[in-house]
This record gives sequence, structure tokens and C-alpha cells, in this order.
Amino acid sequence: MFIDGEWVEAHRGTHFEVTNPATGDVIGHMPDGAASDAIAAIDAADAAFTDWSNTTAYERSRLLYRAWELMTERSEQLAELMTIEQGKPIKASRAEVKYAADFLIWFAEEAKRVHGEWLPSQRPNQRFLSVKVPVGVVAAITPWNYPISMLTRKMGPALAAGCTMVLKPAEATPLCARAVFEVLADAGVPAGVVNMVTASDPRPIGEVFTSDARVKKLTFTGSTAVGKMLAARAAGNLQRVSVELGGHAPFIVFPDADPVHAAKGAAALKFLNAGQACISPNRLYVHESKVGAFNETICQRVGRLQTGNGLDDGVGVGPLVNDAAVTKIEAQVEDARERGAGVPVGGGRLTDGAHAAGHFFAPTVLTDITPDMRIYREETFGPVAPVISYDDVDQVIDLANDTDYGLAAYVYTNQMSTALRAFEGLRFGIIGINDVNPTSASVPFGGMGDSGIGREGGHEGINEYLETKTGGFAI
Ligand code: NAP
Repeated sequence: MFIDGEWVEAHRGTHFEVTNPATGDVIGHMPDGAASDAIAAIDAADAAFTDWSNTTAYERSRLLYRAWELMTERSEQLAELMTIEQGKPIKASRAEVKYAADFLIWFAEEAKRVHGEWLPSQRPNQRFLSVKVPVGVVAAITPWNYPISMLTRKMGPALAAGCTMVLKPAEATPLCARAVFEVLADAGVPAGVVNMVTASDPRPIGEVFTSDARVKKLTFTGSTAVGKMLAARAAGNLQRVSVELGGHAPFIVFPDADPVHAAKGAAALKFLNAGQACISPNRLYVHESKVGAFNETICQRVGRLQTGNGLDDGVGVGPLVNDAAVTKIEAQVEDARERGAGVPVGGGRLTDGAHAAGHFFAPTVLTDITPDMRIYREETFGPVAPVISYDDVDQVIDLANDTDYGLAAYVYTNQMSTALRAFEGLRFGIIGINDVNPTSASVPFGGMGDSGIGREGGHEGINEYLETKTGGFAI
């Protein structure tokens, strides 16, 4: 763990294993932290806050630039580590490291754009000044599916704003987190400014993070159930909260769209990270006039996808995070099959040959999906593309909005008016119009409804770590 600028063991001296999800091999051991370690991390972050918040924005920017340079220099090592620990194909790991580094350079710039304003008063002998100040110690909890970028998306703006941080990474991917902390330490971030506690049981850490009065903000990325529970606890302590949670993204193909182009987009997007992405499309609504051509193309593409160890050439889909993930998807696919879905491609767990040691599910296309099926409502988080044929163009936006989630949505159309109507009508935080990659460090990322509160990235990202102070000056 990394506390007060030192690499330390857990107080109780125990460790947990880290495994490669493609091979089952043990690839490392990390300190198994508990409540007392979380408190020690908060002690360090609290002690470092005053000095860090008093550094100039230019100093903080310079450190973030240096961290960006180091992450970029180490990108190949970081990508290999990510593939070994998390499983995604090496090409996707390289893309994630680049995306992660983008948050460091973006917020290195944003650090210098935090400013206040003079405001008018109705009294002639008074002036008002309003400024932005860092919120204080921030507690962060991150998931395993994007094990480097989910850290920098929080650490970049928090450090830029002048906050200090305690972070608990996912149990499945602490080695990637350790590598990020090595980058920050080597960049020269002062002791206590960033601290990491690793643990096999997240609950005591979460309890300390949400109950210690010195923590002024909780930022969480993960499942909706855990996010709601932690946000409720943080509310009891009046901590500020940002939660980036689950999704159930619709992908709508309008009758005027090219179904082949749309199916290629869906096949590329759905199987990224083996479908383990919060913005992964989960409901593919294809107009009945185009569903034949769409299904033909997506089935061809998905049938060609190679699963295996992400370090091997040609592998496009890696393993799932663990066996429980495979079992959940198996149950969703079985439920859909029993209720009448077609399974033209894939449909089951892979256990042959090199797949035997890992957690693999065959890239799958399901057709004739109906609202009574579990997969129609539940987040899938796996390599399964469920296709729904629809007939009424006026109703499809309502169908897409009929979910508690509201993170990402995708639209394929060649008509500007349809694109605009869909953009305006969809209740989601991120909308791709003929675009399967509507994310970047420079734009806000976040969801509506059960997908969360707050935005990361863009100009808004740093505001999550700032609060406003007003001064009235009698002159
Ligand atoms: P998760 O179970 O909620 O875990 C996320 C993090 O919370 C992990 O670090 C986990 O620790 C920790 N955690 C779990 N239970 C906790 C508790 N009781 N107290 C404190 N911490 C706790 O989610 P996941 O399954 O790893 O991640 C997948 C989910 O994340 C999906 O729903 C996905 O959509 C969502 N996600 C959202 C975004 C977004 O930006 N909106 C991005 C990526 C992922 P352990 O690892 O030790 O369990």
C-alpha cells in the first residue's frame, strides 16, 4: 500500500493473491488492508492537505504533466500488466493507458483555469468576490474493468484542484493501481497527497471512508447497488458525492440507416473489454425493415472473433473477470433462450483447450429479444449482443428510455432531424450519433438516474473537487 509517501504492509501483515483471469496463474500478492490502514491513509491525506492546497496551480500542473510524461513513457509496460491482470486484449490495454494519460494532461491544463469572479453589490460601498477552493480530503473507490483510467479520471482533477486523496482500488486489479501510484510518486507528488489502501474485503475500508469526518468527498465508480449504499452513508456525514454507476445502453438503428455499417459498429463496440464496460450497448433496437441485414452482418463479425489470452496475436475478446461473471451471463442467456430468443452465434461458456484455465464466454448474438427476458432489463457485463426488432419509429425512444439507468445511448441514422430528435429525447448522459466512441478526457462523462451523480472529465470534471467561497468587502 502507499501511505504518506511510503510503500507499506498492512497493519495485520497479511496479503491476498492476484490472479490472471485468462490463465488462473497467481501473478502477485498485495497487502490485505483493514480499517486501521484506511485511517492511517486518511491521517496522511489530512496532514498533507494544507500544504498541497497552498501550492500554486502552476506547480500542481507541472507535476501532472510529469506524471503524464512518465505514464506515456511506461505505456507498453502498463498495457502488458493490464492485460495480464485484467484480461483485455493488448491493443485495448494500450488504448486504455493512452486514455488514462489523457486525464493527466487534460487536468494539468485545467488546474490553471480555476478562477473566481468579482460580483456586483446593490450597496455602493461593497464589493463581492467569489472563488473556488478545493473540497479537502477525497476518498476514491474504483472498479476492475478499467483499472488505470478509472484512477486517473479521479486523481487528475482532484490533484489539479488542490485536494489530497485516499484510494481503494478493486481487489481484482491492485497491481495496475500500484503502477499508477509509482508514476505519481516518481513524478514527485509530495508525501501524503495520494494514498492507496488495498484490501480483499472492501467493506471496512468503505465504512471508514464514509464515516471519517475528515473526508469531505466520496468519489466512487462501480455497481449501482454498492454506489447507492455508499452514497447513503456518505450523506449521513454530509460528504459530497460523485458516483459513476452501471448502465443498460440502448443502440437504436433507424430505418434510414445503413444496417451493415450499424452492425459493424455494434460488433466493434459490444465486444470491447468482453462487454465489461458501463457504456456497452445492452439493447440493440433494429427497425424490422433492416433487422435481416443487420443480423447477417453482426453474426458474421461476431462469429470471427477470437477469444483467448489477450497477449496472443489475433485475440479480440479476453476472459471475464471471474467465474461468477460467467455464471451470471450463462443464466441470462439461458433465460432468453427458454423464453424464445434465437442464438445464432455463441451462447455458452468456453472450456476447451487454453480456455479451460480462464473465465471465458463465447461471443454471442441473441435475436428476437422481448421485454419479459432478464437480459432486456439487467446490465449484462459480458460478450452478448441482444437484438430487438421494432416496428414503430415514434415509440423507439420511449422503449430506449424505459430503464432505470441513464448512462450511454447510441443512434444510427442518416437524417439530421432524426439524429437531433433522438439526441434531445434520450434520457442518457452520453449519446453517440453514428459514433461508437463518444468519450474523451475533454468531454463530460457520467449518467442520469441509476447511472449516477456527477461528471468526470471535460471542464466539469474539476468542479466535482471544488467548492465556492464568497467574500463581501465593505470599502
Ligand atoms: P462493485 O462491486 O460495485 O465494485 C466497485 C468497487 O467498489 C471495487 O473497488 C469494490 O471492491 C468496491 N466495493 C464493493 N463493495 C463494497 C462495499 N460494501 N464497500 C466499499 N467498497 C465496495 O462493481 P464492479 O462489479 O467491480 O464493477 C462493475 C460495475 O461498475 C458495473 O456496474 C459497471 O457498469 C460499473 N462501472 C461504471 C462506470 C462509470 O463510469 N459509470 C465505469 C466503469 C464501471 P472489491 O473489488 O474488493 O469488491
